[in-house]
Amino acid sequence: MTTSAAITLFKNVRIFNGATAQLSPPSFVLVRSNRIEKISKTSISVEGEADVCVLDGAGRTLMPGLIDNHWHAMLVRSTPTALMADDLGYTNLAAGVEATDTLMRGFTTVRDVGGPAFGLKRAIDEGLVAGPRIYPSGAMISITGGHGDFRQTHEVPRRVGGALSRAEQLGGSMIADSPDEVRLRVREQLMLGASQIKLTAGGGVASPHSPLDVSTFTEEEVRAAVEAAENWGTYVAVHAYTSAAIQRSIAAGVQCIEHGLLMDEATARLMAEKGTWLSTQPLPEELGQAFPEGSPRRLKFEQVLRGIETTYGLAKKYSLKTAFGTDILFSQKLAQLQGALLAKLGSWYKPEEALKMATSDNAKLLALSGPRNPYMGKLGIVEEEALADLLLVDGNPLENLELIADPARNFLVIMKDGKVYKNLLDACTSNPRA
Ligand SMILES: [Zn+2]
Repeated sequence: MTTSAAITLFKNVRIFNGATAQLSPPSFVLVRSNRIEKISKTSISVEGEADVCVLDGAGRTLMPGLIDNHWHAMLVRSTPTALMADDLGYTNLAAGVEATDTLMRGFTTVRDVGGPAFGLKRAIDEGLVAGPRIYPSGAMISITGGHGDFRQTHEVPRRVGGALSRAEQLGGSMIADSPDEVRLRVREQLMLGASQIKLTAGGGVASPHSPLDVSTFTEEEVRAAVEAAENWGTYVAVHAYTSAAIQRSIAAGVQCIEHGLLMDEATARLMAEKGTWLSTQPLPEELGQAFPEGSPRRLKFEQVLRGIETTYGLAKKYSLKTAFGTDILFSQKLAQLQGALLAKLGSWYKPEEALKMATSDNAKLLALSGPRNPYMGKLGIVEEEALADLLLVDGNPLENLELIADPARNFLVIMKDGKVYKNLLDACTSNPRA
């Protein structure tokens, strides 16, 4: 259900604000239009206001909506092979339904790090489809044979200046093999509305042609992307597992490393020195089932999986700026684990640290998009003037992080941009004194 009152008043809620390790005393939170207008320990008067919804939290926890900083909105229900074969209208409708499910899991914002999500984002922002806020990268940019080149071998060689491959026509990924080509492809994504740019700096798991150990772009090519992005006021994030790929990217001015699951200690130290973001994921073992046992892709996946423990260890040891994401791909079933993967951070972090990472820390990474930020206003925090993306949780997630793993049961209210998309409380009362 969607309820859209001009004013929503939460009463008797204890607030996890996204940054502080403790819950607030019982409080009142007033949302007007799409912003948090007032937070108070004493009653807030809404007398004389015409259109008010009062939600009694009965002492439950109010917290910021969750943020997934490594998401592919177009590739959850679809696979690269299906995406290339299916009608794009169908793919968009399937992605729209998945976007609604994503919002219903309490993820009110996602950073899309590759895929043709501009149309979906627009439909969500216009209210045609319920879904999270999307920070789109558009097509991920790769080299010939790199992570993101999904061509068949019979499509090689490509005539220089020849036709685009299917994945390029769809805007899923673009192939660029020189600084000039990189500049062109980056600028195209910026023109289409990318809030940040995604390059693949090394080999990947899901790509058919790239071994994990390879570094793909040259430093000069990455620098061309960084320059074009910075001229547009934003930044470049790169897919990179190995130390070599990460170090080359940092030398070229990249501000965010996606994954980093095969990095060594010297690289972690470099990231700490440079203040580079690590956007990494506690990948689910089940993700490997997408690849046949013993296949090259399955073996690559298993190698990456073994790196998770080391990478979180290094992230903690060097206090790296760390963002949370899930990178769930190719499976509606696995997407159900989105909250469970956040709860899995409990293996390395205290609940308040994990929840801070998925809210206010993640929002700091989103804010790197500067003037290209599509949603001006603060996210990931419950404070006055912030955008009103809020969850009412049945229980205290600072004591029991597992509550996040079962959003259907435990998230009683889900609000995004001031609109209530889910409400399991009694229907809101319009009389503030009721
Ligand atoms: Zn990814």
